[in-house]
Amino acid sequence: MRPIIIGNWKMHLGYGEALLLANSISKACEKTPEVDVVICPPALYIFPIFEELRSHPRNFFLGLQNTMWEDGGAFTGEVSLSMVKRVCKYVIIGHSERRRIFGETDEMVSKKTRFALESDISPIICVGEEERFHLEDYYDREVARMKKEGGILSQIDRALHQVSHGDLSKVTIAYEPVWSVGTGNNANGAYAAAICFIIKNYLAEKYSPAIAKEIAVIYGGSVNSKNVPELLMQPSIDGLLVGGESLSTREFGAICKITSEVKSGRAI
Ligand code: PEP
Repeated sequence: MRPIIIGNWKMHLGYGEALLLANSISKACEKTPEVDVVICPPALYIFPIFEELRSHPRNFFLGLQNTMWEDGGAFTGEVSLSMVKRVCKYVIIGHSERRRIFGETDEMVSKKTRFALESDISPIICVGEEERFHLEDYYDREVARMKKEGGILSQIDRALHQVSHGDLSKVTIAYEPVWSVGTGNNANGAYAAAICFIIKNYLAEKYSPAIAKEIAVIYGGSVNSKNVPELLMQPSIDGLLVGGESLSTREFGAICKITSEVKSGRAI
């Protein structure tokens, strides 16, 4: 599986800054052809960035941060994937900020996931726990908790329940502990790897080991160039979802470069 690094710009940057940043990230990822790099700017900037970067490298992609689950209609303020499908390859679904601030439910995440796949766009489905698990002391109890309503495995179940087996290889699961997103408090490599491993195992049991192997499981939560090596040295982590640090070409470029070195076994 190719490693993937996704930058979530959230609601940041002015128009000019966004074009400059997209340009410089696209140039930086020419140096890491073995890593897929996705930037998810605010929806308004998607087409201008696409126009600006017509000749971008083949490992560079655009993604949307959210979508409505319908093609069009009376949904004031919403944006539909069908409006950007010509230029976007990915969409983030169920980010913890959407769940917390905008009341997005598992049911909505499921509809959005199905809609993304029908639109031929790869969904990046975010799941995460509010409070740190205590796997060291209570492994079985904590895994059981993950399967309960609201738990991360239940979130995955609900998100995927309308997805056909044939479409699962287009899905990325982003494990993003809520206590870590935007807090500067990242999960350490061992913790993040343990949860990504539990997710992969769960998918293998639910579908099959062959299908589970095709589903990328990535980590997100206060990633920076310093903590990337310990996260990506873990075989169960296929890539990263980066928020704050995706707004700096230097940091984001360094994250992509380290990813390429670590996952190709050249470092560190
Ligand atoms: C995110 O927005 O998905 C995220 C992980 O943010 P940050 O890297 O800033 O924690």
